[in-house]
Amino acid sequence: KTAALTRVSEFEWRIEPTGNMRVPGVIYATEALIQAMDEKVRDQVVNVACLPGIVSASYAMPDAHWGYGFPIGGVAAFDADQGGVVSAGGVGFDISCGVRCLRTGLRRSDVEPFNERLADALFRRIPVGVGSHGPIRLGGAQMDAMLTGGARWAVEQGWGTRDDLKYIEGQGCIADARTDAVSDRAKKRQRDEMGTLGSGNHYLEVQEVSEIHDRETARVYGLDEHEVVVFIHCGSRGLGHQIGTEYLKTMATSARRHGIELPDRELACAPLRSDTGQAYLGAMRAASNCALANRQIITHLARQVFAELLPEADLTLLYDVSHNTCKLEEHMLDGVIRKLFVHRKGATRAFGPGHPDLPDEYRAVGQPVLIGGSMGTASYVLAGNANPRVPSFASACHGAGRAMSRRQAHKSWQGGRLLKELRERGIIVRSPSLRGVAEEAPQAYKDVDAVVDGAEEAGLARKVAKLRPLVCIKG
Ligand code: 5GP
Ligand code: MN
Ligand code: MN
Repeated sequence: KTAALTRVSEFEWRIEPTGNMRVPGVIYATEALIQAMDEKVRDQVVNVACLPGIVSASYAMPDAHWGYGFPIGGVAAFDADQGGVVSAGGVGFDISCGVRCLRTGLRRSDVEPFNERLADALFRRIPVGVGSHGPIRLGGAQMDAMLTGGARWAVEQGWGTRDDLKYIEGQGCIADARTDAVSDRAKKRQRDEMGTLGSGNHYLEVQEVSEIHDRETARVYGLDEHEVVVFIHCGSRGLGHQIGTEYLKTMATSARRHGIELPDRELACAPLRSDTGQAYLGAMRAASNCALANRQIITHLARQVFAELLPEADLTLLYDVSHNTCKLEEHMLDGVIRKLFVHRKGATRAFGPGHPDLPDEYRAVGQPVLIGGSMGTASYVLAGNANPRVPSFASACHGAGRAMSRRQAHKSWQGGRLLKELRERGIIVRSPSLRGVAEEAPQAYKDVDAVVDGAEEAGLARKVAKLRPLVCIKG
């Protein structure tokens, strides 16, 4: 049976701890979103609440939907001192999947006459789809340098500028990565895949700022109405997936060995203070560096395309943030600052104003939070809040969230027809897979406006700018 929800406010729902739950469950959503939400999300929020060392509550964001073990849109923090765990399913298979947003310095009217040519040129330059190869092939030593250096490594190789690094989580490089904890198989899978977008929901999208919601913050972020931006959404490709798959198996054994009772075998985990836990953290950080390097290389390719077609363009990085991670962070709990391992799976870190990890320019307004909607609807730039009323470890939604499975979407829509409809609305989509396009139909996602409004009203983040798609290169 599905757990009962108690309404705390218009935007917050609570599941009181029962059975093996160590903490309550909290879902941030409007009533409409809750009603539309997959009931399995509740079960998964409850299961996560049973894991050892979890603190405060097991959270779900307004875009939450069913995932492997943890819901996508799930946030949970663990204390190593209290037997806390790390879970591969709590990070997700596409480790450090994330979004970066680039300003272009162009206006819609500059770009619109070139939309088709831009779509073709981007589609030609950016490797996309299953089995595509990137612009470089990494040998053993270079692979290790990439896995420890992240976007910093990519910039050293000439893929971008030092200035880019300031606007990436961790200045482009995640510390304490362990290349020895990454299998040869994982490295081998990645050898040809650097600088590739991947398939499915991964995309590079050219968008127009269609509406400004918060003038002051938009000014700080350098966004204005009718300006054109680029979103890049992708992750750690084959390497991250291989690491996730391998550690899931190791963690199942490890959990048993450490006497951890799993409410669901998909929640396989290891104590943070165990060899398996430490190895996974090291491998996961290496995969994060891979994702950061990957988005950096794709940025460079996009810059080349814009330079050739629209030489007045100047692609500068607004921000890059991952939404499949486990990070050691300091958070205030009951008046005490604690170091916690925060899992965000399909959830975006959303540091509020004043946070020391933010670039100087953004410190007064908070972290940019980048939210994709779909190739046919809006996307958003939000800003993190410092809101003690919302104790979900400075997190926000990461997208609209799926409303139906890929299978169901594939059965309901036809790729070719969708492309035509989108074109009639002025949205040019290029994809190697018509089936992929159908699976990614805008209607297969929740209403992004409702999700973002819910996130704002719950106090998770505030709306800064709304974006409209012009060109989408879709995996
Ligand atoms: P995920 O990281 O869970 O795979 O996807 C993140 C979010 O990206 C989805 O929930 C969805 O709202 C959004 N999204 C998926 N495809 C597209 C696309 O083609 N364009 C944009 N702008 N957003 C997308
Ligand atoms: Mn991904
Ligand atoms: Mn993603």
